[in-house]
Amino acid sequence: MTASATPSEQDRTAQPGAAQGACSQAPAASADAPAARTFPPSPEFARAARADASLYEAAAEDRLGFWAEQARALSWDREPEQTLDWSEAPRARWFADGTLNVAFNCVDRHVEAGHGAQTALLAEYEDGSGASFTYAQVQEEISRMANVLEGLGVATGDRVAIYLPMIPEAVFAMLACARIGAPHSVVFGGFSADALRSRIEDAEAKVVITADGQFRRGKAMGLKGAVDAALAGGAPSVTHVLVVRRTGGEVEWTEGRDIWWHEARESASAEHAPVMVEAEHPLFILYTSGTTGKPKGIVHTSGGYLTQAAFTHRTVFDVRPDSDVYWCTADVGWVTGHSYVVYGPMANRTTQVIYEGTPDTPHQGRWWEIVQKHGVTIFYSSPTAIRTAMKWGEEIPGRFDLSSLRLLGSVGESINPEAWLWYHRVIGGGRCPIVDTWWQTETGAIMISPLPGVTALKPGSAQVPLPGISADVVNDAGEPVADGQSGYLVLSEPWPSMLRGIWGDDQRFRDTYWSRFPGRYFAGDGAKKDEDGDIWLLGRVDDVMNVSGHRLSTTEIESALVSHEWVAEAAVVGADDETTGQAVVAFVILRSGAADAVEEAGGEESAAQTLRAHVGREIGPIAKPRKVLLVSELPKTRSGKIMRRLLRDVAENREVGDTQTLADSSVMDLIQKGLTGRG
Ligand code: ATP
Ligand code: MG
Repeated sequence: MTASATPSEQDRTAQPGAAQGACSQAPAASADAPAARTFPPSPEFARAARADASLYEAAAEDRLGFWAEQARALSWDREPEQTLDWSEAPRARWFADGTLNVAFNCVDRHVEAGHGAQTALLAEYEDGSGASFTYAQVQEEISRMANVLEGLGVATGDRVAIYLPMIPEAVFAMLACARIGAPHSVVFGGFSADALRSRIEDAEAKVVITADGQFRRGKAMGLKGAVDAALAGGAPSVTHVLVVRRTGGEVEWTEGRDIWWHEARESASAEHAPVMVEAEHPLFILYTSGTTGKPKGIVHTSGGYLTQAAFTHRTVFDVRPDSDVYWCTADVGWVTGHSYVVYGPMANRTTQVIYEGTPDTPHQGRWWEIVQKHGVTIFYSSPTAIRTAMKWGEEIPGRFDLSSLRLLGSVGESINPEAWLWYHRVIGGGRCPIVDTWWQTETGAIMISPLPGVTALKPGSAQVPLPGISADVVNDAGEPVADGQSGYLVLSEPWPSMLRGIWGDDQRFRDTYWSRFPGRYFAGDGAKKDEDGDIWLLGRVDDVMNVSGHRLSTTEIESALVSHEWVAEAAVVGADDETTGQAVVAFVILRSGAADAVEEAGGEESAAQTLRAHVGREIGPIAKPRKVLLVSELPKTRSGKIMRRLLRDVAENREVGDTQTLADSSVMDLIQKGLTGRG
């Protein structure tokens, strides 16, 4: 690709966000936001792009007709005639009179169309070994597994828990369940036995699919032991455990309950007729990341979910099945791994990389080595991964040939403009559009994102609702705010891949999402519309800080800190303060090369002063942190999101709250130790 290396950039000055009522919880852009630059698409990219502006027009003219059209891209057993039934709001029914099978759409139809020999999965392991599977081979594997599951008594509608590392069998297990219409509940392989048990019990799963162990940081670690412990302490619904042999390590065995996959596979038929289900048949239950509290078991169904997962994957990532090599770094334990590893990409006949391992084993360039090895063209990852790569330094990706890349994506948190620019320049070589995609477990698929080749990109902003999606930013009274103002992000019309509920807790479903602004979905995130009407995510409504009556956005202050050359990553929280109500406390991780500069500047104390002054200049004096603490790690969920509520506990000298979903529990000790003695 020959797109010019230096996209034209326009300077823009964002309007100051106007303050609303001081009692409100929505964050406000407190003062002058940093100037936003835009990156228009290159003419080459725009010419070849799969999306064009007519999609917005078509959807604006006839929203439901637009989605009905997207649904026709799937293979239906019975074509739907109905589009949306909203008569029992907030529970939507999409394409309800249609029937289909999701696994058939993701695999069989490609084989039937003559693409059986195309590579579906390029599995890569930490030690450099790997495996690859064509679509025809995937069809065979999932058919065998579907037969094994049926042999174990799993019927359409029964739930199956999947507790596996990021290996091909995880993808097979999900698709095998989809093939028989047995909703799966994938539990991230890093979760404890307790977390697994509570999720199995909540969904009353009949079978658990797991592995003997998994490889992590060069070591084989047990996995099945956690299943044994989970089942010993409860979960009476489980009759069988299907075990994939991955590490060959020792495992305890319960006769009659436990079955080796490789043994059962031998005698299972490689042919299986997919079970056609109604569009509203549940496809999976998935628990949210738990960033803000107890995870919610989100229910997704078949036809609408797959329609939107496939449509968004195709247009947002500009996927070309015959030439692209796509890599989404998410684990299948998260929604991104459901919609943008398994269902969207496979419905679109994508060739993709999956990776079992960490980004820094055996070395910090491992991801970039994989991009080079497989000639990855589309790369989808998270701000936390980008900021970590920034911390390690750009020499590391600089050692690899990343010229195959043509499009980059980001999801999970707001990407700080500085991290966006680094991603664009260092990983994307200045030529790859970046799609900053806002969505949630609950939304099932991407909702707000630029379209590559169409939208002029703005670093730090997710920008515009996709065609067919109605999103808005509203004030306390639920009225849309004017451009330049901030408030709460809401989704004002139902969408095909929307959650159909919280498993077993209808009241929580209604209370959490539908009671704050009746008739509209409340996302729980604060947002701002800039002077162009583009949407900027400002952080969780739960994390909003209130300093002397000014509501401050966590995202904006963090982005201001990250815009300083010393800083790789920052988290800010509001701590109780006698005079100002709350005061801003910032936790900052330096870039690897910044230690010397900090020494020269006079050490930690004066570095903290420099960063305070920097925030004051970037945003305004009110946003200046009262304290800036340099730390080596931040508490994150296992999906990589910063858990500010734990930092707030530290900042307010409270006992640290529930850390079950924390990736590394030693981080909180580290931070607390680092703080004592500093006062
Ligand atoms: P819980 O709901 O249990 O607290 P969670 O919200 O972290 O967990 P997810 O569904 O994995 O669980 O994450 C969705 C959230 O991630 C969004 O509500 C938003 O806060 C954040 N997010 C995702 N993508 C973006 C993005 N591109 N920009 C800003 N924030 C994002
Ligand atoms: Mg959430």
